[in-house]
Amino acid sequence: MSDPGGNLWTHSAEEAVSAPPLNADTQADLVVIGGGYTGCAAALEAARQGAKVVLLEAETIGHGGSGRNVGLVNAGLWLPPDEIVKALGADAGGRLIDALGRGPQMVFDLIARHGIDCEGNRNGTLHLAHGPTGLEDLRNRFRQGNRHGAPLQLLDKAETARRTGTAAFHGALFDPRAGTIQPLAYCRGLARAAQDAGAALHGRSPVERIAREAEAWCVTAGGHSVRAGALLLATNAYHRSMKGIAAPQFIRVNYCQFATAPLPPSIRAQILPGGEGCWDTALVMSSVRTDRAGRLIVGGMGDSEGFGGRAHKSWARRKLASLFPDIAEAQIEHQWSGHIAMTSDHIPKILDIGPNALAVFGYSGRGISPGTVFGTAAARSLLRPETGAALPVQVQDRHIERFSVARSYYYEIGATLAHGISAATGR
Ligand SMILES: Cc1cc2nc3c(=O)[nH]c(=O)nc-3n(C[C@H](O)[C@H](O)[C@H](O)COP(=O)(O)OP(=O)(O)OC[C@H]3O[C@@H](n4cnc5c(N)ncnc54)[C@H](O)[C@@H]3O)c2cc1C
Repeated sequence: MSDPGGNLWTHSAEEAVSAPPLNADTQADLVVIGGGYTGCAAALEAARQGAKVVLLEAETIGHGGSGRNVGLVNAGLWLPPDEIVKALGADAGGRLIDALGRGPQMVFDLIARHGIDCEGNRNGTLHLAHGPTGLEDLRNRFRQGNRHGAPLQLLDKAETARRTGTAAFHGALFDPRAGTIQPLAYCRGLARAAQDAGAALHGRSPVERIAREAEAWCVTAGGHSVRAGALLLATNAYHRSMKGIAAPQFIRVNYCQFATAPLPPSIRAQILPGGEGCWDTALVMSSVRTDRAGRLIVGGMGDSEGFGGRAHKSWARRKLASLFPDIAEAQIEHQWSGHIAMTSDHIPKILDIGPNALAVFGYSGRGISPGTVFGTAAARSLLRPETGAALPVQVQDRHIERFSVARSYYYEIGATLAHGISAATGR
């Protein structure tokens, strides 16, 4: 069997965007650093408002988490609603829950409005109970979600088996607000829409320096500079250091995915026939979904290219076989990994990094809807500070993560051990 190729999303994206390097000095109302969902949504919103916006991306549009993720367009954070309220208080917590509850609608509206070809499928998601404790967790999330107005449905084991094509799960929480996308194509589509609205996007333009000069931001990339009244740092887990600004602090967590070759129609009719995207309640979480071509994509924590790579790869094979024995021998055609920017409280951060400048990061593995919502809101707030445009979370002066490097290793070692132990126990 040949070695698997890399990132499936790069292979199958139907959307394309051209973003040449910055090749002259320029001026703007807003300069955005980072070409993922946060940066592209901000650029789109700024351009739509008639502002002059320049976006600088170190690599290509969607190079970071936005081009590598599972593609689950969730209607909230990883945290259940009561914990968000506990962390932020009733008012601020309620506002964040509401804003993110509307997130998938915003994403799918943008997809429709701009004709983004990203395999958008609003068939909901299934949070799968990996065992009795997982089912209890889902019951709890169901009760909490209902109290906050979320139209969730708790499915029993038989209905879960019918929807997924495997009897491995004890039940599921169905969220009809959510859906799936081809993540890189969505990001490129947002970028293309921003360009159509007048934004200037530059790839292969790693920002090396940020300075404050004569009441404006001066951002340098590749020997050229952008002077702008407002600045948005949207580099998240893929932040590359630049002079003049402190790096956002987060815990880097890795997640890897494995995609089969397209499955025959008879098998596709049995596995996730409704097209829902799924993830489970296990502590070392995993995910499963299909794509438009009929591939099955299994994901789990860990870096498939790192020291635990072999454990993660053989875990993926066993996972596939245990969930869907009929395709135990299916060829894995693509494997790839990505970094997640996690915060200790799992709540995204907006930092004040200077006059009219914000840094947005830390979606903790939930960045498709949140990145779109936060990026849009950040652009509004930066361009019209006098209107006090509401941001989804309160702006902070700083955010500190202690022992972030050690904690990143802890997660990677934990995922490697869990996947290795699953080999020993045959699960
Ligand atoms: C494997 C994986 C699975 C995930 N699954 C899901 C999921 O199913 N659902 C969900 O909602 N979320 C998921 N996430 C999270 C989601 O992908 C991220 O939260 C989201 O993509 C973050 O978007 P962003 O624009 O903030 O950052 P990114 O997409 O990471 O973009 C940041 C960009 O900044 C650029 N950059 C960095 N430094 C510089 C510099 N100095 N100069 C210029 N550019 C720079 C980088 O090159 C990068 O392109 C997942 C993440 C991963 C990695």
